[in-house]
Amino acid sequence: MYIIGVDIGGMSVKGGIVGEDGKILCKAGVETKTASEPDVIIADTVSLINNLMQKARLKIGGIKGLGLGIPGAIDSKRGVIVYSNNINFINVPIVERLRGYFGELPVFIGNDANAAALGEMRFGAARKYLNAVFVTLGTGVGTGIVIDGKLFEGVSSAGAEGGHTVIVADGEPCSCGRRGCFEAYASATALVRQTKAAMEKHPDSLMSVIAREKGRVNGRTAFLAAARGDVAAQEVINRYIGYVGEGIVNLANIFRPEVILIGGGVSNEGDALILPLQKIMDERCYGIHNGNPRVLVEKASLTNDAGILGAASLAL
Ligand SMILES: [Zn+2]
Repeated sequence: MYIIGVDIGGMSVKGGIVGEDGKILCKAGVETKTASEPDVIIADTVSLINNLMQKARLKIGGIKGLGLGIPGAIDSKRGVIVYSNNINFINVPIVERLRGYFGELPVFIGNDANAAALGEMRFGAARKYLNAVFVTLGTGVGTGIVIDGKLFEGVSSAGAEGGHTVIVADGEPCSCGRRGCFEAYASATALVRQTKAAMEKHPDSLMSVIAREKGRVNGRTAFLAAARGDVAAQEVINRYIGYVGEGIVNLANIFRPEVILIGGGVSNEGDALILPLQKIMDERCYGIHNGNPRVLVEKASLTNDAGILGAASLAL
């Protein structure tokens, strides 16, 4: 039996037909316009799914379920997208809408970070653990929390928003309306802002050379310059990693998982990010010097297909 996983994002809808072992039989994607009406995105999703089934020569009877990962506030029990700021969805009963197209096929939805956490537990780096916190460092900071092998979502699936816990009181403004959120310091967006500020302060830094080479400043700029020995860039990285560290130590102290998995674009920096985070964890986690267990920090493993596999896991 197969499952269909669909990852609805601000820029594209991607989907794949996935075996129960996590092998992707085939995948496809369509570009979306950020401001598209729900009807357009639903129509795109339906044609993507039909496309996939045709490609794989499967009929609806060969599919066990459909899972959709969606950014924003997703009420997975009611099957409703309550609010998504990246796509133009407010109170859209998407499960009911899709049921009209695929008959009795069970449809499941979830927040994309939560789905990614489930995907890592089932198919990825967290397979050997029962308790894990997944943190994506991308445009924002998403968190997914798995307790005793089950996703924790809170009332109306509105919880598990670790990106919107404050790490600096009265700090940088956040998109959620508070100040000083983890997301406002640890997202790739925040890293770019921190890099640009350091470049202004240190115009001779290698960061400017690298930004010129690449045509823009991005989340890699400071990491690349630091790897080539640039002191100002290393300062940016140290400060940034310090912020990420504060956020994940908070999460570790609340949930005490076996592992914190780091995903999202910034996680591609690998050991340059993961090793210093592990060091912070080993120094600051509650009770760590008095016999409390270590919390591991690992890079998430499902990089390119994380969205599809995560969405598929919602239906498993
Ligand atoms: Zn916030």
